[in-house]
Amino acid sequence: MTAALVARVGASRVDVEPNELAAYARDRGALAAAGAPSAVVRARSTGDVVAALQVATAHRVPVVTRGAGTGLAGGANAHDGCIVLSTLGMDQVLDVDIAQRTATAQAGVLTADLQAAVVQHGLWYPPDPASRAISTIGGNIATNAGGGCCLRYGVTGDHVAALTAVLADGTVIRTGAATRKNVAGLDLTRLLVGSEGILAVIVEATVRLRRPPAPLSTLLATFASPPDAGVAVLALQRVADLSLLELMDRTTIGAVERLAGAGLDTTAGAVLIAQADVAETARCVAAMEGAGATAVTSTSDPVEAEALLDARRYALPALERLGVALLDDVVVPILAIPEMLARIEEVAARHRIVIGAFGHAGDGNLHPTIVLDPGDPRAEAKAKAAFREILAAAVGLRGTITGEHGIGLLKRPHLDAVIGAPERALMARIKDAFDPLGILNPGKAI
Ligand SMILES: Cc1cc2nc3c(=O)[nH]c(=O)nc-3n(C[C@H](O)[C@H](O)[C@H](O)COP(=O)(O)OP(=O)(O)OC[C@H]3O[C@@H](n4cnc5c(N)ncnc54)[C@H](O)[C@@H]3O)c2cc1C
Repeated sequence: MTAALVARVGASRVDVEPNELAAYARDRGALAAAGAPSAVVRARSTGDVVAALQVATAHRVPVVTRGAGTGLAGGANAHDGCIVLSTLGMDQVLDVDIAQRTATAQAGVLTADLQAAVVQHGLWYPPDPASRAISTIGGNIATNAGGGCCLRYGVTGDHVAALTAVLADGTVIRTGAATRKNVAGLDLTRLLVGSEGILAVIVEATVRLRRPPAPLSTLLATFASPPDAGVAVLALQRVADLSLLELMDRTTIGAVERLAGAGLDTTAGAVLIAQADVAETARCVAAMEGAGATAVTSTSDPVEAEALLDARRYALPALERLGVALLDDVVVPILAIPEMLARIEEVAARHRIVIGAFGHAGDGNLHPTIVLDPGDPRAEAKAKAAFREILAAAVGLRGTITGEHGIGLLKRPHLDAVIGAPERALMARIKDAFDPLGILNPGKAI
């Protein structure tokens, strides 16, 4: 099989060296199983992807598509003997269409690079996962990534107009249209969004752009506890149409301060970082004070604002410095946020474990992150129990088990809690229609 790959895509793009294979075996998610790939293909073009998939199909070898490997659910983890198909070398922004307000990019373009490329044309690509500097647009589409600004502007999938993708047998398909409206046929674009590499390999994407927003006011509020901050989320919801509303609890604040020295109050039980239209600042301050904030400050200085957002972006890397970080990605209805935050604290106290909670509070999307001591043999079992209990708590509050990281391998055992048997069977039939031999990322996502 390796000889066939080399013949079709060239020796310089195929790697079988053991250290390289190990580097491509897993993503950033903790505790999900990972096998040993037999080859890594570093695609540079759609032609490379077609060739690799044709070889894989001929040899009946599974293919794990990989962007930057920053996923947190084991979605890009290798299967024993698989081909890891890396799109990271497909890194060209192909077109920025100012009149249509679209950009077309290869799948391996880093999200921040796409954002920088369109800014030069006076345009803005809103989806802003905290990993935007290190994750790819293809990976963002395959996971339907969220981020801070997604509160007002919608998640990645809301910005995808058209895709070029390659099916497992090498057939190239084009979905959607660059036009502002299009309802021709079934919406295959939307089906590929969030499909976690199990239906097709996305090779190019046309995304919708906006004009940059007017300058915003950025607010920082401290609270005695995460549930108190949750009450303020509800209060803000009633008075303003926020652009961003992020939460960090005391454990996360402490970790961020140790990593980055961002100047946050380490005695606070929780902080909220909000962005609102300047005209709504006073209303937001009053709402947070009325909901029990111990201090609220605001700034219209973009440099100060970016420093605060950076502090929030450090949350996961900072917690990862404390130990192995097992990240949940639960979403609850807005009204249930205070209760969900209280449940997370209860789980941490009962198991006597460290859980750092942070997340996109305005969307009800929380990332309780269980920090394990890798040297403690009982830690993994306790962490897994806490992980399950947090998922169950979210489902019990009429929430769901993932808002943006996907199911991958990590949450597949819990899928029945949120998707019924008929719907799961239908998803299996859709997978079968795209990939009848089950080549693409088998055993993941559905
Ligand atoms: C520090 C940090 C912060 C993060 N913050 C956020 C956040 O704010 N919001 C958020 O949503 N996520 C966040 N993440 C998670 C992660 O960055 C996202 O899931 C991201 O979209 C993954 O992109 P990637 O290129 O790394 O994809 P990978 O991890 O390589 O792959 C993810 C999944 O997509 C599939 N895939 C990748 N590329 C393609 C393709 N071209 N075609 C088909 N399938 C493909 C893979 O098979 C896998 O199932 C964060 C991660 C880290 C480490």
